[in-house]
Order: sequence, then structure tokens, then C-alpha cells
Amino acid sequence: MSFLGKINVKILGSGTSTGVPVIGCDCAVCQSGHTRNKRKRASILVSALGRPKILVDAGPDLRQQLLEENCADIEHIVLTHLHADHCHGLDDLRSLYFYHHRPLHLYVSPLHVDELKTRFNYIFGKTGYHGTRPQIELHILSEGMNTVGGWQLDHVHLPHGHVQTSAFRWGHFAYATDFKSFPKQVSDLWRGKIHTLIASGIRDRPHQTHSSIPETINIFKDLEVKRGIISHLSHEVDYIQTLKDLPIGTELAYDRMPIVVPPLNAISIDCIEKRD
Ligand SMILES: [Zn+2]
Ligand SMILES: [Zn+2]
Ligand SMILES: [Zn+2]
Repeated sequence: MSFLGKINVKILGSGTSTGVPVIGCDCAVCQSGHTRNKRKRASILVSALGRPKILVDAGPDLRQQLLEENCADIEHIVLTHLHADHCHGLDDLRSLYFYHHRPLHLYVSPLHVDELKTRFNYIFGKTGYHGTRPQIELHILSEGMNTVGGWQLDHVHLPHGHVQTSAFRWGHFAYATDFKSFPKQVSDLWRGKIHTLIASGIRDRPHQTHSSIPETINIFKDLEVKRGIISHLSHEVDYIQTLKDLPIGTELAYDRMPIVVPPLNAISIDCIEKRD
């Protein structure tokens, strides 16, 4: 049965593949002093009382993100896909093993296994690599319900250019990043079930492989989510300017944003947090 209790989510990174500021860019957002215009690569940490933490993605900023959160007790990691901004921090999982001395459980879609093993040959193959490798136990996710560290996790695929991305639903909370659209069968499956959805929306204008902010807002409406949070933002998105034009119930993610997904039995209460 899906988890119905309170879920705590931390946005570890709210940025697109380059991060924001972009190296060498002198645009207003990259030069902005506002902390909410500074975005590390997209990742979240999901936790609940009595459940192990689940880390979603391990991008190039992982070390800094976990240091900021002072968090080392992670044993379960799910990957959305194998683009560099979502997995090039895998080597930093070594420190987690040094901390708890238990192997790390890494969960990936069958669509991503071959590329994972190719790209991280030194971890999964016999290459004669002399350094310390992350101690990883690999698990292949099924489409639909999976058990991940005691959680029931609903796993679907979304189109993202030439690849498919894995999106995940923990009961009434879901995370979907790096997709162009929601296929009808996924929308039909998830509609009305999600209280809080964090979904990518890279910028205002359309993008070839990513959903734009207006497209993501339409997905929130279609899925009837109560609280929609847009992440994976590029340097075209100024936090203050963009936030003020968003519809009620829709917010922009920012780095280190804490999100409380209320237990299902409390959802009749208006739990959309006030904007600050
Ligand atoms: Zn990405
Ligand atoms: Zn810029
Ligand atoms: Zn991607």
C-alpha cells in the first residue's frame, strides 16, 4: 500500500544542467545577488518518519549538497536518467559508504542500465581501476510499483528528447524532471492522486526536449495537483519576476527549499503554503 503519512522533501538543487550562474555569463540572473537565483544541479531528498531517506539523482553538485544538509545517512538512490547533470556525482557516494559501511542501493530503469554500466565502467566493470570505487548494489526498477527501501514507489517513463526519463510517485507526492510532456496514459494514471508535484519547467519559452514553465503549469492543472513546484530552472528564470506571475498553488523551487507534504488525512485543510 502506498505511504499516506507526512513526507518531507528537500530540494537539493533546482537548476538546469549548467547550474546557475552559468560560467562566464553576464546576464542579469547570473549576476544577481539573490540566493534564489543560485541553482545547483537538480536533485531532491525524500524522507518520512520511520522510513529510510531516498536520494533522487546524484549530479555534479552532490558533494556540496550533502555537506550543506549535513546528511550522510543515505542508502537508497534512484536515478531519473543518465544525463550528466543527474549522475556525474556518483563517485561521491563513496563518502556515504565510508560513513555507514553498508552498500548503497542504486535503482535505475532497465532503459538506463547499459548506459550506466558503460559510463561508469570503473564502478561496474573489471577495469583494473586502482582507486576506491563506490560500493553499489544495482537494482532494476519495474514499470509501476516497486519497493525501494520499504517505500512503495510508482515508476513511470516520460519522453525527454531521444531518451526516456524515470518519474516517481511516493503515494501523494511525486517528482518528475527532464521531460517534454506527460503521455496520456501517465496522466490518466496519476490524475487526482498527487497532492504535491515537483516537476521541471526549464524556462518560459519552449524547449525542444524540456517542458516550459507554461507547459508544466498545464500539467499541474491536468493532474489536479494541489501544490505544484517548478524546478530544473535555467538562467532565463529570475525568481522574483517569474514567481509573481504564477497561478495560485504554483511555486518555483529554490535550492535548500524544504517541502512538507501533509499526511493524506490532513489534506482537506488548506495546506498550500503562503509565498514569501
Ligand atoms: Zn537535467
Ligand atoms: Zn546567465
Ligand atoms: Zn536530461
